[in-house]
Amino acid sequence: MSAPERLDGFMARANALYYGTHDPFADFTTSPEISQVFGEIIGLWAAVTWEKLGRPDPVLLVEAGPGRGTLMADALRAVRQAAPAFAAAVRVRFIEVSARLRMVQAGRVPDAVWHDDLESVPEGPFILVANEFLDALPIRQFVRRGDGWTERFVEDGRWVELAADVSDVPERAVAEGDVVEVNAAARGFVSTAASRVVRAPGAALFLDYGPMRSAAGDSLQALAGKRPVDPLGPAGMADLTAHVDFADLAGVARAAGAAVQGPVTQGSFLTALGLMQRTERLARGRGAAEAAALLGAARRLADPAAMGDLFKVMALASPACGVLPGFG
Ligand code: SAH
Repeated sequence: MSAPERLDGFMARANALYYGTHDPFADFTTSPEISQVFGEIIGLWAAVTWEKLGRPDPVLLVEAGPGRGTLMADALRAVRQAAPAFAAAVRVRFIEVSARLRMVQAGRVPDAVWHDDLESVPEGPFILVANEFLDALPIRQFVRRGDGWTERFVEDGRWVELAADVSDVPERAVAEGDVVEVNAAARGFVSTAASRVVRAPGAALFLDYGPMRSAAGDSLQALAGKRPVDPLGPAGMADLTAHVDFADLAGVARAAGAAVQGPVTQGSFLTALGLMQRTERLARGRGAAEAAALLGAARRLADPAAMGDLFKVMALASPACGVLPGFG
């Protein structure tokens, strides 16, 4: 017998176990693993953003949840070629909890410095990127029952609904039985980043999956072996994620004084930043099969029917820095 565990506690425990013991990339594929152009474009985005921030030197280039380190390795390669002054100013900081993944990341970006959380990254000018990071942070779920709310707990692989503390439930008109999700960890992370860009030149770019507008619904998902599995199965055997509520996080960032840009769809963001042109240049001079694979990968990132529409991109920045690339 076990006591009911609140969903956010279960999800935090399950994901810590999962990322600490598994190769996540056997279970799901992320944008930087699909095409090298993804990380290159984000590197160039960071270089232009650095200009708009007044070229602070040194500047921390921070990545939250760097996975295999692929995005950062691709970004740095592109930046060294196209923006050497930015490359010289950059100091790389990784926010990563998994000791296993830290080792993989060190193989790709040996001169990075690692942190457990954003709070322990020194303050000062920074550019932060996070791809599929916020979706892994633990959520709570509330269910509309009658004219009140319950909260979802997990007990022995099953859902249990207990009376909710109403002050924890966001004001949202929903129907009987609807689920409303709250991600306090994502809100805390965005709030910390936002208050930092008010105190020093800085910007943060979040790429993740979720709707444009806050919506009711149970979006908890578990993937193992690239297939959906029961999210309440044995803790640590699957990757647990949930939709990112960009509208909610935009409100958090604005409340902290940051300028918010987007969200825009990943398809429009990458296309505006030259995804297809860079990919075609890369494909030139390769064999037909390799060229077709590169173009197919780029389409998967930007095509509305693939990742182009489901994934969104949102930036927060120092109020004075103007429109950032991809958000014009
Ligand atoms: N950005 C990478 C990996 C996404 S997977 C990519 O796009 O390929 C999620 C990443 O976030 C993993 O590196 C995981 O270990 C890390 N992560 C998950 N929860 C975290 C937390 N609470 N703090 C820091 N890192 C976390």
